[in-house]
Amino acid sequence: MKEFELDVLIIGGGIAGLWLLDELHRRSCRTLLLESRALGSGQTIASQGILHGGLKYSLSGLVDSSSKAVAEMPQRWRASLCGQEPPDLRGVRVLSPCCYMWRTDSLSSRAGLLAAQVVVRTAIEKVSTQDRPAALSQCPGDVLRVEEHVLDISSLLEAFRVAHSDRMILIEGESIGIATERNDSTEVRAVVSDGDDQVLFRPKVVVLSAGEGNAGLRQKAGLDEDAMQRRPLHMVMVRGNLPVLFGHCVDGNKTRATITSASDSAGQTVWVVGGEISEQGVDYSEAALIEFAREELRRVLPGVDFNDTQWATYRINRAEGRIPGNRRPTGMVWRREGSIITAWPTKLVLAPQLAREIADSLTLSRAAAPQLVLPPHYPRPRVALPPWEACEEWTP
Ligand code: FAD
Repeated sequence: MKEFELDVLIIGGGIAGLWLLDELHRRSCRTLLLESRALGSGQTIASQGILHGGLKYSLSGLVDSSSKAVAEMPQRWRASLCGQEPPDLRGVRVLSPCCYMWRTDSLSSRAGLLAAQVVVRTAIEKVSTQDRPAALSQCPGDVLRVEEHVLDISSLLEAFRVAHSDRMILIEGESIGIATERNDSTEVRAVVSDGDDQVLFRPKVVVLSAGEGNAGLRQKAGLDEDAMQRRPLHMVMVRGNLPVLFGHCVDGNKTRATITSASDSAGQTVWVVGGEISEQGVDYSEAALIEFAREELRRVLPGVDFNDTQWATYRINRAEGRIPGNRRPTGMVWRREGSIITAWPTKLVLAPQLAREIADSLTLSRAAAPQLVLPPHYPRPRVALPPWEACEEWTP
């Protein structure tokens, strides 16, 4: 059996694990990342890629010290996107430099947009009628522009894969065994994917960053699975001859619909629709949600022609650290138990903060240690397919 002595073993290659891998590698820490499917499978590839600056938290009144951290994060990302700070994310596609906010004719929607202008601390400006995106040409009231970048998640995951593939192993998910010794050190066993190579890792610290998979990994490590909460979503996708749109229809203290646009491999525009539609949609079948979304999108976007479009949905759970009262966390959550750290970023945008805090908490020896060299035949994880490429059934 091949054995590796290392400083930190990261399990799970979504945005949390990948940003941490980069941060630790930069700090000369001997680190490896284990992934059981493809990088970003789960929440990261399913996400809408918006670098939120606290808009949602401000609207719902959840303004505290963590939402202050959220407000600072977009700037941190921008520094990486333009190559000023590591990780170098210059290869990542920015799909839009901003999101729009608009309202419907309902009273609560009018009030919501007004409140947003007061409480939102992200730079925000009114858009003149001629500068409105085509999809919002017939929307009543003001249209606002919010400084929220939207990223192409596949290219984000690819940037980390290219930079760190020497430090990643694709493993059989079920094969992981985690044993904590009496002196609090931890041993992790795993089987390399597509083979029967068994590997034993002896890390000083293990970081579980496997999203929803953290529950099962914690159970394997003899830790409380209840440390995690799931909040389900049922997202909608629409593809066809649609105008490109990034933004939120605000209603009261909620976002009635959050829409981002992508281009699929056939060059068609695909809308990913979240917000209240995806929260309410949890109790609907796929067909019922599509019917509801058709009506709802006609109401919130009166100027858009949905003829010749195709519709599909996907279900995904948000995995978050449980906080007292089962409330929705406003910031990232991580905890250390012996030599095991479990981490949930809560939002993609918070991954840099999570990585920095975890790395700062570790006392790592700065002595130059020999770099880890993986056998060349070990398979490396690829990047997960976005939901619109993975989906096979579309409804006209
Ligand atoms: P994940 O992305 O779930 O990654 C976990 C990884 O661990 C996966 O690669 C998985 O294959 C791997 N794994 C699982 N089990 C094991 C195992 N046993 N062994 C090895 N590997 C394992 N946030 C924003 O900031 N902006 C947004 O616009 C936004 N939109 C969102 C939209 C949706 C629909 C959802 C669900 C979330 C959204 N979020 C957004 C939140 C954000 O996506 C998540 O907070 C973030 O992606 C979580 O990243 P993660 O690395 O913790 O987990």
